Amino acid sequence: MRDFRAALADLDAASLLRTRRPVAGEQGPVLEVDGRQMVAFASNDYLGLAAHPKLIAAVVEAVQKFGVGSGASHLISGHHEEHERLDAELARFVGMPKALTFSTGYMANTGVIPALVGRGDAVFSDALNHACLIDGARLSRADIHVYPHGHLDALEDALARSPARHKLIVSDAVFSMDGDLAPVRELVELCDRYDAWLFLDDAHGFGVLGPNGEGTLAHIGIRSARIVYMGTLGKAAGVSGAFVAGDAAMIDWLVQRARTYVFTTAMPPMLAAAVRASLEVFRSEPWRRERLREHIASLRRRLRDLPWPLLESSTAIQPLVVGDNARVMHLMENLWQRGFWVPGIRPPTVPEGSARLRISLTAGHTPEQVAALADALVTVAETETIAA
Ligand SMILES: *Cc1c(COP(=O)(O)O)cnc(C)c1O
Repeated sequence: MRDFRAALADLDAASLLRTRRPVAGEQGPVLEVDGRQMVAFASNDYLGLAAHPKLIAAVVEAVQKFGVGSGASHLISGHHEEHERLDAELARFVGMPKALTFSTGYMANTGVIPALVGRGDAVFSDALNHACLIDGARLSRADIHVYPHGHLDALEDALARSPARHKLIVSDAVFSMDGDLAPVRELVELCDRYDAWLFLDDAHGFGVLGPNGEGTLAHIGIRSARIVYMGTLGKAAGVSGAFVAGDAAMIDWLVQRARTYVFTTAMPPMLAAAVRASLEVFRSEPWRRERLREHIASLRRRLRDLPWPLLESSTAIQPLVVGDNARVMHLMENLWQRGFWVPGIRPPTVPEGSARLRISLTAGHTPEQVAALADALVTVAETETIAA
């Protein structure tokens, strides 16, 4: 039997041991932990919808009508009218022919990629893609070409040399730990030139970008039949789940072949109802996206002169790259003592030597909370520089 105690001790020695902090009460900009009120810049609830009254009301109404569980997988008897409504609304919302909802984003990516490509095909994957895109590509058994982050020449080279019949480029739309956007227009051009498709994971753009929160494609103003679009429903949408949208026959194929759709219990209908309520709020409360944009601009203005580089990001994800694992955890602890919860992100989530504080802003924050975080970071930077 493997010595797990020793393995854990090794992680601890490398400042790589991860811990969980149980939260009491509801999601929001202030989280209660061990009886303390922490101002948190740690969630992906970018619009502040996770505890929105309209979503709560939708769940309460649905749970009274439909109960809690879905009872079975979609292809047996778990497919509810609420799922049908949600799939149709999501397709309409993002302006694509058809959509299909999965229980999580992780499941969407690990189920869809292997349904699209297989042995003898090729996947071209950005080096900073999310773990579940990597896992999806591996599960597909296609050949995997990893290109350096955003490096279009390297990607084109690999596409030009590939003899594969089916070529799938896979990318985060908004990179989850850096906050920057993929060069989507250029990726689509490469798809046209090399007869490839683009699987675009918009976990951090859906709800946040675009006039009504339709996501990165609407933000950039691009459409293409070559795009398989994926958005998650547990981040800006405030609920749980994910969807894939695109060509109608492709979606019909996923219903047949995406193993994480076929072989799992359907998402509870009450959650489908909650997501429909979030789409309503995306449209009816545009001030949330506006407020988020204001927070991003004001935080970036305040953090320009810190000793750590603030990555170029116009999204809710604002990473301060500290480098060393122990250092980043020390900074996190220092901020924690001051009442701020900002997660330190270490390898393997980010490349070796690029540990960072991942500040995530939400529409739920007040301008005062954002200013207080900036003040705390400036103070912490001063004391740390003196100590170092
Ligand atoms: C969070 C995330 C996922 C996974 O989505 P879940 O619904 O949380 O499983 C997939 N891709 C990216 C880029 C993500 O950030």
